[in-house]
Amino acid sequence: MDWVTWAYKPFCMPSLPEPLQNLVESFERLPGIGPKTAARLAFFLFNAPEPVARNLVESLQSVKQDLGFCSACFNITLATNPLCEICSDESRNSTSLCIVEEPLDVLALERTNAYHGLYHVLHGVLSPIDGIGPDDLKIQPLLERMRIGKIKEVILATNPSMEGDATALFLQQQLLTFGIKITRLARGLPVGSDLEYADQNTLSRALSGRQEMTG
Ligand SMILES: [Zn+2]
Repeated sequence: MDWVTWAYKPFCMPSLPEPLQNLVESFERLPGIGPKTAARLAFFLFNAPEPVARNLVESLQSVKQDLGFCSACFNITLATNPLCEICSDESRNSTSLCIVEEPLDVLALERTNAYHGLYHVLHGVLSPIDGIGPDDLKIQPLLERMRIGKIKEVILATNPSMEGDATALFLQQQLLTFGIKITRLARGLPVGSDLEYADQNTLSRALSGRQEMTG
């Protein structure tokens, strides 16, 4: 029996020492981590040199304490800076606004180097089945941003999923009154995929081939 199988076995019959059991359970709550990987990670850290474990603890504390959301676009920013790096960059095209679901989508689009406007992060998508409606997303702050009147084009870059498409359609209807150009990322992205996992070329093509949504 290898050590991971051994570690996993007592996991089912709670006989692991409590601190280790707690660590395994903490890892299990993370996305994409099953019981076996959780046990593997916990044992790795138990055996790891002190600085490795300390570094992990400090990094975790720091992301919870030192980060916040940009007051304009809701991307992640240092808690000490009310505006993120992109919103504070005056060389960016402030007439173009790209609307995404999550902060990781901003990173994916930035990696393409094909977009130089601003962003707005919704922090989710409309999903009636999960009870997520417009008030649960950053839609009101988006409309307030639009009322300032500087934005001339909005790119709806929600994921090409059922919820992403429904959210894009809902936003299009909300934004029609502003008389601006509204575009949607081109259909080069696989349906049901996540922007954050798309490769740079595909994403770059989807961006440059974006199509206007008409009322
Ligand atoms: Zn920002």
